Amino acid sequence: MLLRHTSKELIERKALTVNPAKTCQPVGAMYAALGVHKCFPHSHGSQGCCAYHRSALTRHYKEPIMAGTSSFTEGASVFGGQANLVQAINNIFTIYNPDIIAVHTTCLSETIGDDIPQIVSKARSSGKVPDGKYVIYANTPSYVGSHVTGFANMVAGIIRAFALPDENRLLNRINIIPGWVEPPDMAEIHRIMAVMKARYLLLPDTSGVLDAPLTGKHAFYPKGGVTIDAMKSLGASASTLALGSFASTTGAEMLLRLTDVSFEVEDLPIGLRGTDRFLMAVSRLTGSEIPEELEDERGRLVDIISDMHQYLFKKTFALFGDPDQLIPLTEFLLDLDMVPKYIISGTPGSYFKKRMDELLAKYNHTAVVKNGPQADMFYLHQLIKNEKVDLLIGNTYGKYIARDEDIPFMRYGFPILDRIGHSYFPSVGYMGAMRLLTRILDLFLDRQDRDSTEEDFELVM
Ligand code: SF4
Repeated sequence: MLLRHTSKELIERKALTVNPAKTCQPVGAMYAALGVHKCFPHSHGSQGCCAYHRSALTRHYKEPIMAGTSSFTEGASVFGGQANLVQAINNIFTIYNPDIIAVHTTCLSETIGDDIPQIVSKARSSGKVPDGKYVIYANTPSYVGSHVTGFANMVAGIIRAFALPDENRLLNRINIIPGWVEPPDMAEIHRIMAVMKARYLLLPDTSGVLDAPLTGKHAFYPKGGVTIDAMKSLGASASTLALGSFASTTGAEMLLRLTDVSFEVEDLPIGLRGTDRFLMAVSRLTGSEIPEELEDERGRLVDIISDMHQYLFKKTFALFGDPDQLIPLTEFLLDLDMVPKYIISGTPGSYFKKRMDELLAKYNHTAVVKNGPQADMFYLHQLIKNEKVDLLIGNTYGKYIARDEDIPFMRYGFPILDRIGHSYFPSVGYMGAMRLLTRILDLFLDRQDRDSTEEDFELVM
């Protein structure tokens, strides 16, 4: 009973958050910046903030995450962090030689009102930014939004720094903003686009960065990440496909403003229908056909669903995590004939509830759907205490609820600190859906094995 103080009684809270179902904006900004080749993330705030952001990513990816900090002390907190940031820019270019420094703010630097564009221009005018190098930035105050908002803001910051208008459009090429997905998900998008023979640019791209192989040779900057040349040519694409409304719309809007490249927002390609919509959008926007290879993958997924339907039918579930992931994941679970009970996200934004309500109505279901500051893990645990579910899906922190309530638990989302796999195997596309499905089935079948009587303990279930 690790969470022994969680009570069953639900009391409406207006100010207090207990165990938030999200993390802070700069974590997302740092993750997005790592998806740019030879980019060095920099946290403009105290050392403690940067240590937390780095450790969250390091523990999730089991890779050393590099980042700088402006190392605010009392002086910078009172008089502003300009001197610290200018010094940091000089040090980072001199010692680590990145092509780009991506500065994100923190609660402290936002509260004192540091003007990052002004400080960066001061660094440039005083010769601290070498020729051909860049300092880009995003405002990421963590008392609003979540790590997803921080990711979206940094993607917009990257686009603001590099995208140029181009009248010579490549009519069959698109930009894809992949949303907050894992490096293997970005690799899976690359694979799908290659199979479709479709032309595209992916931004940001953490594949080959946070899942880099161990070779015995140290590379300070892994070979992955979107390049400066690619980012400068975003304006030459015919359109942009923004995957995930919360993580990708801000960047797509920025690109539209700067280059007049129009955009469409689609759900992340998670599950059967999410992947269908993604492939059809790519086909429509690039003119590429959906090849037999992908149709076969879809057929295999449908085959597993129909073979194993009896183990999924009417199983209840609770989800918590990031809104862009929860929307198509819920749809996938509904397609499996599972029953939603509680869907919780710490990321604010009215689109989430609207979209979930539409989805649930379409499938004739009702569920508790809540997002924002009070949609926290404590609330989720209270709901589960009142009525248990058959399956809980969410990040590592859900293990406390799962253990206390004895519920099968699938780790999915960010962060996952106590398992691996998420950095190597995709969850997007039909292949990713097959992996999600087999993980869910394993949980149900293991539970059945564990709980069955000796007479019912079967090899073939
Ligand atoms: S102070 Fe703000 S930016 Fe720093 S770790 Fe805490 S929430 Fe994140």
